[in-house]
Amino acid sequence: MTIYPAKIPFVLPYLMPSLTFKKNTTGKTVFLTFDDGPTPVVTDWLLQFLENENIPATFFWVGEKINKNKELARKVVNAGHTIGNHTYHHLDAWKTGTNLYIEEIKKTEKHINGLYNSKKLFRPPYGHLSPKKIKILKQMEFKVVMWTVVSGDFYPKLNTDKVIKKLSRQTKPGYILVFHDSRKAFKNLKSILPPVVHNLKSRGFTFEML
Ligand SMILES: [Zn+2]
Repeated sequence: MTIYPAKIPFVLPYLMPSLTFKKNTTGKTVFLTFDDGPTPVVTDWLLQFLENENIPATFFWVGEKINKNKELARKVVNAGHTIGNHTYHHLDAWKTGTNLYIEEIKKTEKHINGLYNSKKLFRPPYGHLSPKKIKILKQMEFKVVMWTVVSGDFYPKLNTDKVIKKLSRQTKPGYILVFHDSRKAFKNLKSILPPVVHNLKSRGFTFEML
């Protein structure tokens, strides 16, 4: 069982140096990322929260959901946030052939480009990839962004107090944090994100997009 929040194993960046697990920053900067949206109500709540806090974020979206929620997607883009690619149907790279996987990414990229000029960021669902897929993504000029710490907001039995304390205390400059704007994560997201953001702000952190 994974204990959340979960930091990525320290060897991974050395094993997969072409992927981004953390950013090099000069200041006390942290990167908030939100996966699996856009989701009505959930993404609306998040957008309002980010606006109230005046902080930018990066969203890794599922193409199918962009297609279903175009107006909401446009609202997020118009608010100035960054959008990345998270496949069309949230596919697992370990269970999907390369051709289909790449087609899904291309299809999603078309939807992102329909909203704004894509920065070509990709995050694989479940963090799963293969050397072959990594190579193709590189040829396609995608920047593959993993994360430093996953909040565990999708986990129903999450000990939110513990997550708030640990995320607040353990976050360091350059960290990429993962949350989810999905229905499954909504309850936990609402309880952990605001206190974590307030704590990081009080410690002098600023927030940037990827
Ligand atoms: Zn995902």
